[in-house]
Amino acid sequence: MSYYTKAKFLMSAPDIRHLKQDEGIEVAFAGRSNAGKSSALNTLTRQKNLARTSKTPGRTQLINIFELDETRRLVDLPGYGFAQVPIAMKKKWQASLGEYLQKRKSLRGLVVMMDIRHPFKDLDQDLIYWAVDAGLPVLALLTKADKLKSGKRKEAFMFARDAALAFNGDVTVQAFSSLSKIGVSEAAAVLDKWFELNGEEDA
Ligand code: GDP
Repeated sequence: MSYYTKAKFLMSAPDIRHLKQDEGIEVAFAGRSNAGKSSALNTLTRQKNLARTSKTPGRTQLINIFELDETRRLVDLPGYGFAQVPIAMKKKWQASLGEYLQKRKSLRGLVVMMDIRHPFKDLDQDLIYWAVDAGLPVLALLTKADKLKSGKRKEAFMFARDAALAFNGDVTVQAFSSLSKIGVSEAAAVLDKWFELNGEEDA
């Protein structure tokens, strides 16, 4: 998993149309705002400030691209689910994200961050359905898993794993915590597979 420490900021784009070359391999990170996406990216890359959170609802949010090497990238998609965002903007977000998931050839997998206490909200489900429809594997990270005691955590995990079957696709569910590092190496192992890393690349 030390591979992800290599991540370096490459560029920001206002929307998916501005993404550069559709080559190599990228893995996208998505989630409702406040789900713990920035923390998860920082934890995976072991960097304190790689991903920063935009705490301003409705503000123009950027897609941030982090480069791992010449051919591999992490794509941090804007957080969604702000109640205050106008419906027209939500529609635009949906259309553009749907298009990205369907058309981006270099996209090999989608990581969806969801608070372990509130998984599979409507927009999370939309996103996962689009990904499955596009034939993409999904890693559903149940974030902030440290907030539940071990018994409740297991219960929440099993509930989510059962719920994930409804998507009829390749959806892996993993409890995750940036705070206590639950599930970090398991999540990295899934990414390794998507990025076609087999260990040799580890510096
Ligand atoms: P984002 O909006 O999805 O990028 O979410 P952030 O990573 O900024 O996290 C949102 C809030 O949840 C912050 O207050 C974090 O400190 C908190 N948070 C994130 N990850 C964890 C975690 O693993 N455990 C706990 N207890 N809190 C977390």
